[in-house]
Amino acid sequence: MSLLTLDQVSGIQSLLSEKRRIVLTTHTNPDGDAIGSSMAMSRYLRKKGHDVIAIVPNQFPGFLSWIPGVGEMLTYENKAKACQLALREADLVFCLDYNALNRVGTLTDILKKTEAPRILIDHHIDPETASFKYCFSTTNTSSTAELVFDFMELMGDTDLIDKEIAECLYTGIITDTGSFSFSANNEKTYRVTAELIHHGLDALKIHRLIYDTFSEDRLRLLGHAISNRMVVWDELKTALIYFDRNDLKEFNYQVGDAEGVVNFPLSMEKINLSILITERDKKIRMSFRSKGDFSVNQLARQYFNGGGHKNAAGGTYFKSVPETIKAIKHILSECKEDLNYKIDY
Ligand code: 5GP
Ligand code: MN
Repeated sequence: MSLLTLDQVSGIQSLLSEKRRIVLTTHTNPDGDAIGSSMAMSRYLRKKGHDVIAIVPNQFPGFLSWIPGVGEMLTYENKAKACQLALREADLVFCLDYNALNRVGTLTDILKKTEAPRILIDHHIDPETASFKYCFSTTNTSSTAELVFDFMELMGDTDLIDKEIAECLYTGIITDTGSFSFSANNEKTYRVTAELIHHGLDALKIHRLIYDTFSEDRLRLLGHAISNRMVVWDELKTALIYFDRNDLKEFNYQVGDAEGVVNFPLSMEKINLSILITERDKKIRMSFRSKGDFSVNQLARQYFNGGGHKNAAGGTYFKSVPETIKAIKHILSECKEDLNYKIDY
């Protein structure tokens, strides 16, 4: 945990007391928390009079395209030059929803070279503190979006929160908590949500925009995943879903269509660990989710070039789909005891 001291709060307040060129950055494969936090910060900092450019390393899911301001965001994949220029000219860089510079993928080298001070706002385990001038980081929160709310409060700026900022922050909170079903056993998360409603949020509308806007292909891909692509290893209390290139093609896969698929196997009482593997260009993207004690952060870090949180993590592997499944089964067999616990319902 790395929260801000009063001196640090004053330090940031004085940095923000003059007009600055500010760049906002977030992690590769940005999710609802990454985009919601970025767009809330963008609107807030503009209201304070700053020039703000928000950058994402690659494309974000289509179900987030309604988010206020999202159309102005620069995607490094398509607009590399503009992103480089923005970072070179920045007076200040915010790092949102990631804990280490290499989480911005293709942007990492440019971000490292930037001379402007970096301010981290994040909720992942073990932030790389030496990379940031200021670290506002704790795992004891629902989401980065909740921390962005806290940041605005620390700056004495809650009066700047409007309906649009509230919608962005609520997006981060519900996508990172599975609509308050995990990482949300915290009074404060509900208090912040109540504040957002006070500032004009229509919570039901945002929920519909995120969860009731599937294409038919996306829902059928989910059905296919559960009916035809789910392997269950009872002895490991684990279920694994795999998508190969052909599956994605057959269901006309769009960025974000596999979001949430990994959560479904956990709804089986007997399952403690759920894994989704997806075949990408030359690699396998992996998502891990657990219930209870098993740390998927540790698993992803140790074996799959990844990380995340205790109960939600991601990683990458450089083998074929069948080889990856085999490797996972082998690794999990080694930690069979760690997986064989009973959740107290
Ligand atoms: P998802 O499975 O939804 O892609 O990611 C779950 C969580 O793990 C998110 O908080 C995300 O930031 C983190 N995560 C996903 N992939 C990686 C990765 O490759 N490295 C690290 N360090 N974290 C990741
Ligand atoms: Mn997050």
